[in-house]
Amino acid sequence: MADFDEKDLEEKKEELSEEETSLKKENEYEDVCFICRRPESKVGKMFKLPNNISVCNDCMHKTMDTVSQFDYQGMLNNPGFMDDLNKNLNNSGYPNIRFVNIADLQGEGGIPNKQKLKKKKPKKEKEPVLDIKNIPPPHKIKAQLDDYVIGQEHAKKVISVAVYNHYKRVATGTMDEIEIEKSNMLMIGPTGCGKTYLVKTLARLLDVPLAIADATSLTEAGYIGDDIESVVSKLLAAADNDVEKAERGIVFIDEIDKIAKKKNTTSRDVSGESVQQGMLRLLEGADVEVPVGANSKNAMVPLATINTRNILFICGGAFPDLEEIIKQRLKKQTSIGFNAELKDKFDKEKNIISKVTVEDLKKFGMIPEFIGRLPIIYTLQALDKPMLVKILREPKNAILKQYQKLLELDEVKLEFDDGALEAIAEKAMKKDTGARALRAIIEEFMLDIMYEIPKDDNIGRVIITREYIEGTGGPVIDIRSISGENPDKLKVIEEK
Ligand code: ADP
Repeated sequence: MADFDEKDLEEKKEELSEEETSLKKENEYEDVCFICRRPESKVGKMFKLPNNISVCNDCMHKTMDTVSQFDYQGMLNNPGFMDDLNKNLNNSGYPNIRFVNIADLQGEGGIPNKQKLKKKKPKKEKEPVLDIKNIPPPHKIKAQLDDYVIGQEHAKKVISVAVYNHYKRVATGTMDEIEIEKSNMLMIGPTGCGKTYLVKTLARLLDVPLAIADATSLTEAGYIGDDIESVVSKLLAAADNDVEKAERGIVFIDEIDKIAKKKNTTSRDVSGESVQQGMLRLLEGADVEVPVGANSKNAMVPLATINTRNILFICGGAFPDLEEIIKQRLKKQTSIGFNAELKDKFDKEKNIISKVTVEDLKKFGMIPEFIGRLPIIYTLQALDKPMLVKILREPKNAILKQYQKLLELDEVKLEFDDGALEAIAEKAMKKDTGARALRAIIEEFMLDIMYEIPKDDNIGRVIITREYIEGTGGPVIDIRSISGENPDKLKVIEEK
């Protein structure tokens, strides 16, 4: 009997703690006025109606006023009284208010948390690697980036200084006499050279929300495609609907070269120049109203106001024809006087893209106002073979380390000899997609290894060779020592 009581008590306790956690969760989100969409933190205590609907004080009073002025006698004689009611509301300064059929809202649990605003948190739980409130000096930021991003020394240096200045400005909030300009950036570099990776790594180290958007999907508001403010909405989602957190976040807009001004076009350029125009406001710092928990604004979605002044915007692009423009400019400069004979010297030069100027970008099709709002412009190099080998081996979360760890769980040691790494890098270079090709190549030949190795418990070590990568031989398989046998006995298996 006593046993039974204890069990009962335990169950009750569990139930209670479940309730507690769900209550806690509920408390993290605040209600939004059903009519004007403002959150409780702005408008004060709300009236709670059935079906999880909340209405703020202002809206409730104004609705009551409107209803009390209503001609009930007329309503009874008029079959279309709902239309009249809506019209009446619109005339009294509520153009967006309509009575809604409550039955439509009776979904599971009423309005989901997805459409509520998260309350501002009193304190952070996790310590970030780099604390933006007490931002470390640029060399420390770069040292952290070095652990993950190979090469691109110049880019890492520039980004570290820019981020240092940006968050120093945000932390101190000194906007009085000497206004420190926003450190928005433009990154130019071929595909797969680490542009996105650099920004992702940075956001993770700083523990700030990051939104990655593709400029090709953006169009001027009102046209098919995402409107420009949707990037801020993405950032809010990345910050768990926490407005304060989103306001310190990073927005990365990729493929920015695709919104260059279209040449020789007579139609309206809704996805090119207009997008650049539309982004000016955001880049500089403006209050934007974005939908919470949805991609588009509509009557049922609450809106949050986000100030973009402290959001760091980083734009990236490959700018494919930019090299030609730079070469032409350089040639023009040297075609006069003594240097005239050196005209073709730029054709052979490798890192011509690093000589880019604002003028070249304007010629490419970026409008001056847009470039003007990205004061920090820098380039990333295409990755060469030694860099690709390093990327395979050195970063903290290098692909090889990931496979080694996986096989380690089976107590098998995985090694790659130098020839194998070079062969992988050579294959990747041929694909012309930078480091992005590496993973695909490795995955292709690791499939057999990952399939075969767990079959045999005796295998202790696998060495991947150049021959295996090139398909002319197999990996070296080292058998685990079995009592009395020589542990270094190698057995070569021709798998193919
Ligand atoms: P893009 O420049 O086109 O934005 P990404 O940054 O997406 O290219 O790079 C693709 C992948 O290649 C990344 O996820 C990363 O794993 C790897 N990578 C690219 N460049 C580097 C680099 N410099 N150091 C380490 N890894 C890199």
